[in-house]
Amino acid sequence: MAGRALPLVLTPPKGRKKPPRHLADLSLAERQDEAKRMGLPGFRAKQLSVHYFGHLVDDPEQMTDLPAAQRADLVDGFLPSLMTPMRTLEADRGTTRKTLWKLFDGALVESVLMRYPDRVTMCVSSQAGCGMACPFCATGQGGLQRNMSTAEIVEQVVAGARSLQRGEVPGGPGRVSNVVFMGMGEPMANYAAVIGAVRRLTDPAPEGLGMSARGITVSTVGLVPRIKQLTEEGIPVTLALSLHAPDDELRNELVPINTRFSVAETVEAAWNYARVTKRRVSIEYAMMRGINDQAWRADLLGDVLNSYGDWGWVHVNLIPLNPTPGSKWTASDPADEREFVRRLEAKGIPTTVRDTRGQEIDGACGQLAALEA
Ligand code: SF4
Repeated sequence: MAGRALPLVLTPPKGRKKPPRHLADLSLAERQDEAKRMGLPGFRAKQLSVHYFGHLVDDPEQMTDLPAAQRADLVDGFLPSLMTPMRTLEADRGTTRKTLWKLFDGALVESVLMRYPDRVTMCVSSQAGCGMACPFCATGQGGLQRNMSTAEIVEQVVAGARSLQRGEVPGGPGRVSNVVFMGMGEPMANYAAVIGAVRRLTDPAPEGLGMSARGITVSTVGLVPRIKQLTEEGIPVTLALSLHAPDDELRNELVPINTRFSVAETVEAAWNYARVTKRRVSIEYAMMRGINDQAWRADLLGDVLNSYGDWGWVHVNLIPLNPTPGSKWTASDPADEREFVRRLEAKGIPTTVRDTRGQEIDGACGQLAALEA
């Protein structure tokens, strides 16, 4: 609704204890300095890093190259327990696994592992809750509890990688190839920790997990200053802009941050990201019946995107809405969805419809945590 007070929270509530510091919060050089500060040789930090990022080991008993006398100090100092699995739900014959995690302070977050024939994608949370207040989203209804630390974000991926390595996911041992920041939270509202996590995921082992930045997607509802900052960051991740409406009137209601940064400002920042990084931007558009799925809005979306040129800078990813129980927001009629795709493609915009994996396990971000809470 245009003009309503913006419930935007960019910083977490004050006075809370921080998550324990963990090896994944630090660069390799910082870990080595920290080991020396603890009175231990710096190379122990590297050995521990090989265990965590290289071998995905979490049991100190397996770290037999560390002297038993130092092992407890090293594990206490660098590998504190960050999160406890509360529930894991499976769908798609076990190839989709959603985990509800309890963080050190009781906050609940979710991650989802999705195994496809050619890749494994982890969808991770970056905040406990979210302050963006999108009315159709389960997470948005509870507000922001706090930002997650870099290590809490990374640990979700490491946990997924461990379950793949141990053969717990049908299809045999495998590796995480893609990470999407599309779980709970607005990644750009926790910018420093998210960029730290991206660096840790892409740093070569043993500093990090050694993933390709091209396999990482950072989503945003459109915090324009942070999109500009990411443009200058020099990390070739994919940017996904959750647009959900091509006009300010509707977007002000669906994505309240739009009252601060208009559709034009937001799309221009995304276009500039594509121009500078040469990475095609993904426009995410949750299809909501009778709300944003009209044919004329498909035409308007195509025109808005094409106004920045038709050099292949963008594609549209339509998301069939996974309705929150008790909410008025429901998924579009399949015929309306097909017409939306047809009209965008007629304007030369490559368009895909996201598969709806995990819908039967409350796949939309935040639904499981909302139920548990
Ligand atoms: S849709 Fe994303 S940005 Fe909006 S409230 Fe939900 S988690 Fe936050």
